[in-house]
Amino acid sequence: MAETASKIRGKIRQKKREATGRGRRPKTPRPRIGVFVCQCGGQVSSIVDVNELTNYAKTLPNVVYAEQMNFPCSRLGQEEIVNAIKKNKLERVVVAGCSPRLYEPTFQRCVSQAELNPWLFEMANIREFASYCHQANPKQATEKAKDTVRMAVAKAKLLEPLSPIELPMTKKVMVIGGGIAGINAALDLADMGFKVYVVEKTESIGGYMALLDKTFPTLDCSICIEGPKMVDVGRHPNIEIISYADVLKVDGHVGSFKVKIRKNPRYVIAANCTGCGECRDACPIEYPNYADMYLGVRKAISPPFGQAVPLTHTINREYCIECFKCVDACGAREAINFDQKPEEIDLEVGAIIVSIGYSMYNPSDLEWTGYGKYDNVFTALEFERLILAAGPTGGKVVRASDGQKPHSVAFIQCVGSRDINRYEHCSSFCCMYTLKHAVMLKEKYRDDIEVYVFYNDMRSNFKGYEEFYNRAQKSGVKFLRVKLENRKILEDPQTKSLTVSGETEDGKPVTAHADMVVLANAAIPQQTATELAKILKIPLTPEGFFVECQPKIRPTDTDVPGIFLAGACQGLKDIPYSVAQGSAAAAQAAAVLSKNVWTVEPLVAQVNEEMCSGCRVCESVCGYNAIAVENRGDKALARVKEGLCRGCGICSSACPMDAISMPNYSDRHIIAQVKAVMGRGDKT
Ligand code: FAD
Ligand code: SF4
Ligand code: SF4
Repeated sequence: MAETASKIRGKIRQKKREATGRGRRPKTPRPRIGVFVCQCGGQVSSIVDVNELTNYAKTLPNVVYAEQMNFPCSRLGQEEIVNAIKKNKLERVVVAGCSPRLYEPTFQRCVSQAELNPWLFEMANIREFASYCHQANPKQATEKAKDTVRMAVAKAKLLEPLSPIELPMTKKVMVIGGGIAGINAALDLADMGFKVYVVEKTESIGGYMALLDKTFPTLDCSICIEGPKMVDVGRHPNIEIISYADVLKVDGHVGSFKVKIRKNPRYVIAANCTGCGECRDACPIEYPNYADMYLGVRKAISPPFGQAVPLTHTINREYCIECFKCVDACGAREAINFDQKPEEIDLEVGAIIVSIGYSMYNPSDLEWTGYGKYDNVFTALEFERLILAAGPTGGKVVRASDGQKPHSVAFIQCVGSRDINRYEHCSSFCCMYTLKHAVMLKEKYRDDIEVYVFYNDMRSNFKGYEEFYNRAQKSGVKFLRVKLENRKILEDPQTKSLTVSGETEDGKPVTAHADMVVLANAAIPQQTATELAKILKIPLTPEGFFVECQPKIRPTDTDVPGIFLAGACQGLKDIPYSVAQGSAAAAQAAAVLSKNVWTVEPLVAQVNEEMCSGCRVCESVCGYNAIAVENRGDKALARVKEGLCRGCGICSSACPMDAISMPNYSDRHIIAQVKAVMGRGDKT
């Protein structure tokens, strides 16, 4: 007859007892516990009765000391805790206050100052779990706080001292994405002496900034600011650019990430190519250039733009007719190789910065805009390329229908953004770049042009931005405030000119005639983000931006130690903010790389090899690839990769043999807390 589940569980328990040599009842520890109740500047004490709670804590088993404090997290508060630990010979400490996510490391440091092992500390979150969520019922909040403290004390009693785990550190870093955020991060780290690999998907670093004409609010030439930085990246002895490349795989952990990269074939040997351009001049074939938003062309062998870094040319085999004129033109340099194959590169780095920027929404599915249907409706980036002196029209803003200069231009804000049917978010920099475009046109052509801005809200909230808005108003730009709904653009089929219409908030119609319309189409998450997020095992928001560890106080950290975020991939932001975040991420990465070893919290899964049957259940459930079954001698055994384990405990609960435990989060600890909350905790 088949064994019952309870019989099987009994056998496992028996086997475990034999394997661990433990008896049925482990010896009950009786440590001296101290409880410190935080008033949190009134955030706790205005709801929870902290006097009652502190007096209650004193009655709990093993608690030999309890006091309430205003800010135990402050320097004075911590000194008080250290003194209390020493004076009362405390062996375990419970702080009842806010979230361990914010303050556990602070209190662990405090406890160790009193020469107590930092893992003999437990936090009871009575702020979020009691005072915040039961504001309307202080009595219940106090009772819930008592339950929470009772559970923490029950667990604290069983805590065991642990030692941190040390991992070796590779003092190299990979920056993924060479836009302005990544460029800044790379230069900062390289200047600090670290080896930096910049992995860029396209042929050149630079990102969107390399494609812009001027930058708001100062109207500096964009490439004149970014170009020298791009050249510095290309020449820096500590930086290696791996461009036209994709990150395929990332394994390992902080201190030792193992990265596989595919370098796509350019059919030009980078080491031999001087960027002289003789091949490009000889090449008879042209194709639409993405760097010109497809308004201009480039040769089948060429760089995407003149200031590209690296300037190594690339052959587009989709267009190349294999006439080999480029080979002749290149001559003795022998830089062209039609047999070049994709190349795989393996790197080991200690830290990673993700700075892959954003993408632009193609508004052709927004019918009211007429984009893709009407010749003279452009996107903002197309306009940047039109007005750029080095752009496809030599800086002349002209209509696509007849090549004539427009005498009226209407800019339409929020196209696809702030739209719950497309992208709910604000694209953050469109108000400002629209002001930039409007000012540039109006100040250049003055009375020879009418400039309209159809907007809903004007967001000009950083240094010098409001002043720039005032400048636009003074220059004669006409601002028309309309609702986001019911906007429409119609083309006159004869003249190809356009009529833009909308409605004010109180329903009055607004219209303007325009020879040309420019859409501030939504900036959206980078299309490559989904794949990269999977590779790096870091989460994305529902829209597709990378999720930071803590939006206010850790905006460049991710939940994966050693992986940092910079620039628009974390959330849309303009150039100054992207640059600042690049430097912030670099500083974070440097703090990691400057250590000789990386210390990991010892809260990682532990395998009892006597119990492990090698069934691989743990391997299949771990979301971090942190546990793998390996053959050791004649036995298959699970092995934990300590640098990858995040201590989530899923393997421990899934293991049918009960062979995996989490230090200080074992069944004993959890059951003690459950018993405590049910009022069935031990009374000793
Ligand atoms: P990006 O510039 O997007 O750079 C990201 C880089 O990562 C790119 O090189 C990309 O190819 C690369 N990449 C993408 N995916 C991968 C991958 N999987 N692997 C490797 N590499 C990858 N801001 C201002 O402050 N002033 C202005 O005047 C201004 N004008 C603007 C005008 C327009 C029309 C637009 C659309 C934006 C404007 N901005 C302006 C905003 C500006 O473009 C951004 O603030 C800036 O580009 C953000 O830099 P970034 O490095 O985060 O991203
Ligand atoms: Fe010059 Fe040869 Fe490079 Fe073309 S491939 S830019 S000809 S070195
Ligand atoms: Fe241009 Fe291709 Fe001819 Fe070279 S072989 S010149 S890239 S068309």
